[in-house]
Amino acid sequence: QANEKESMYLVSEFAQKYFHNTLLNTDTGKAIGYSYFKERGFTAETIKKFGLGYSPDVWDAFTKEALGKGYKEEYLEKTGLTIVKEDGRHLDRFRGRVIFPIQSMSGRTLGFGGRILGNDKKTAKYLNSPESEIYHKSKVLYGIYYAKQAIAKQDNCYLVEGYTDVIQLHQAGIENVVSSSGTALTPDQIRLINRLTKNITVLFDGDAAGLRASIRGIDLILEEGMNVKVCTFPEGEDPDSFAKNNTHEEVVAYLDNNAKDFIQFKASLLVDEAKNDPIKKAGLISDMVKSISKIPNVIQREVYIQECSRIMDISEQVLSSSLAQFLQKDI
Ligand code: ATP
Ligand code: MN
Ligand code: MN
Ligand code: MN
Repeated sequence: QANEKESMYLVSEFAQKYFHNTLLNTDTGKAIGYSYFKERGFTAETIKKFGLGYSPDVWDAFTKEALGKGYKEEYLEKTGLTIVKEDGRHLDRFRGRVIFPIQSMSGRTLGFGGRILGNDKKTAKYLNSPESEIYHKSKVLYGIYYAKQAIAKQDNCYLVEGYTDVIQLHQAGIENVVSSSGTALTPDQIRLINRLTKNITVLFDGDAAGLRASIRGIDLILEEGMNVKVCTFPEGEDPDSFAKNNTHEEVVAYLDNNAKDFIQFKASLLVDEAKNDPIKKAGLISDMVKSISKIPNVIQREVYIQECSRIMDISEQVLSSSLAQFLQKDI
């Protein structure tokens, strides 16, 4: 279905230009969308680079424009840009939202994320394009097109949770950054990074959800044979807010000083919640060994066992026999 896919790419590219143009060159786009991004601290240059946009708060303003230009309803519906009601009426999926276009590794527009303007709790804050023939959520990383050169050059990739984290870090001069944007991290996304570097530093939000996601991410990354570090943020902060409120030098220093390898990261969890609790300590050590068992390379496993032994003050022999048990379970 090469033609069908191409038609979906074309209508997505048209939509990206339409939303971007609406943001920059219409009265409501400027008053609502552009000022929203400005308030978040994005410069004109950043808005342009990421092709950010605004979808008018009208039922079918975009769909009408697209149909008028000859784009077919079929592809508008298949990309999810238009919702076709049972009575045949058209509804713009992203109406009234600011738009983050999502690009492939080679720069083609695959889909969109749309954010509401305020913090109204009744509506979903972000809405994404639906899964389609051109947009496979589990295989896409937001920002990869803008980050790929820097990832290869720095030989490291920062992994964040959201669109604004990627954009704000770029603006702060840190360009080796991508986001899984809402979907839980997948092996395919990690393999995309693996083509550029073996090193990932996870920078998730300073909240309970961010912590849980970091922990889940670690084992997935280790299983791909990659090296993983974790850098946490103060409670309530995410990379976006942190980069907005600090200078480039401060952000770089924070990342350098707070990125821990996964053993140290897990050990720090113990300090936070289980210092004087032997049962929790035992559970956490088991958990560390389980993570180590995900590493494909036997020498690396041995090195991490040594580190774990040192940090947790438990003998290497005991850790090794526990490791052997985990390895056996995997077979
Ligand atoms: P913002 O700073 O704009 O409020 P954020 O990026 O910090 O948003 P989080 O709440 O930390 O948002 O969520 C991280 C990411 O998860 C978002 O960037 C988005 O991709 C996704 N996400 C958040 N809320 C939703 C939602 N209601 N529906 C779908 N995806 C969501
Ligand atoms: Mn969060
Ligand atoms: Mn966040
Ligand atoms: Mn945020």
